[in-house]
Amino acid sequence: MFIDYNESYEQIREAVKRLCADFPGEYWRQKDSESGYPTEFVQALVDTGYLSVLIPEKYGGSGLDLKAACIILETIHKSGGNGAACHAQMYTMGMILRHGTKEQKQLWLPHIADGTLRLQAFGVTEPASGTDTSRITTSAVRDGDDYIVNGQKIWTSRVGHSDLMILLARTSPREDSSKPTQGLSVFMVDLREEVGKSITITPIETMINHSTNNVFFDDLRIPAKNLIGKIGEGFKYIMDGMNAERILIGAECIGDARFLIQKASEYACEREVFGRPIGQNQGIQFPIAEVHVQTEAAALMVEKAATSFDELRTCGTEANMAKLLAADASWKAADVCMQTFGGFAFAAEYDIERKFRETRLYRIAPVSTNLILSHVGTHVLGMPKSF
Ligand SMILES: Cc1cc2nc3c(=O)[nH]c(=O)nc-3n(C[C@H](O)[C@H](O)[C@H](O)COP(=O)(O)OP(=O)(O)OC[C@H]3O[C@@H](n4cnc5c(N)ncnc54)[C@H](O)[C@@H]3O)c2cc1C
Repeated sequence: MFIDYNESYEQIREAVKRLCADFPGEYWRQKDSESGYPTEFVQALVDTGYLSVLIPEKYGGSGLDLKAACIILETIHKSGGNGAACHAQMYTMGMILRHGTKEQKQLWLPHIADGTLRLQAFGVTEPASGTDTSRITTSAVRDGDDYIVNGQKIWTSRVGHSDLMILLARTSPREDSSKPTQGLSVFMVDLREEVGKSITITPIETMINHSTNNVFFDDLRIPAKNLIGKIGEGFKYIMDGMNAERILIGAECIGDARFLIQKASEYACEREVFGRPIGQNQGIQFPIAEVHVQTEAAALMVEKAATSFDELRTCGTEANMAKLLAADASWKAADVCMQTFGGFAFAAEYDIERKFRETRLYRIAPVSTNLILSHVGTHVLGMPKSF
């Protein structure tokens, strides 16, 4: 992706590749087997400034564009690693940048940039609401200079490795709002003093190593000055931030797909059965070639979406389409790679079964394929809405 456009992108790609060489397959397999957080890898990204590339220079970041961030995440995944342990920090800070006050920016951004504050977590999804965010019930009720929060979030990833968390909560009842998505507000939660008191975190065991959790709020007090943007307008802000998230995750999927395609094509050349390389059989060769074509097409859509984002153009549809195409390509690449390796695909040492599990997530989160198709069907093609 983004090759030939800008020499500095290629320098970033090479530098991230070098960094990733210190975190080979064994490292990720070990973390996977013990459900461990890749603290050393995340620290290396912080130390080299790659996690803060989107933060403007005046707040201590390097002020690069989304394309640069895409290259960083794509390269991590192409090397067999996984950016999910920390990718949220790249885009969640956009909430402060776009909607925060001058004081909030000054208070948080420089510390996020220098790594002294970790903003890895955001709590939107709830068990009963599912994709219908307008039905979340976690409430924030004003009480003097504070809001008091009660409720539960689910799938709040990385919250145990975060100092701050972006929270979406209802500040006025759904029935009293002009639209179902009105009356939701965004807050910054400082987790450091509250975990174990008014915030309870319980990890969810999952098929991938993703540090994801249930989070319960029991009379959590948040200072009113931690409200981000206008009261009741939070849904819009969350949607805004999702474009960057979808594009960046699309880039990760492209990295996964390229990792798996390379593994499959190399193995197809090396492995001999019936006296010839299996890749000589078109039943093995064509699926690999086909998913390569799909991946390169998906990469163009990711690039188009990132370009629109960087040029401040509306990019919701492109971001959705990029995520869908890239997630489908990486999932297909995982399946093709499994088939190419045959029984050996199941051996953890090849990293294929791990990537097979990891890349499956992105057809579901952060937004599922069906919901993207619904967006395209109704918003782009003008067909009637199903909900
Ligand atoms: C590992 C992991 C990490 C996550 N991290 C976070 C996080 O950090 N923060 C956070 O807030 N959330 C997080 N999520 C939540 C994630 O964004 C949601 O799981 C995702 O948006 C889907 O919502 P749901 O699981 O509630 O599915 P549901 O909304 O229950 O949907 C279930 C299925 O039904 C389909 N469906 C629903 N409605 C329709 C319809 N009208 N038409 C057609 N199909 C439909 C969906 O496409 C989906 O396939 C994470 C999830 C996972 C699994």
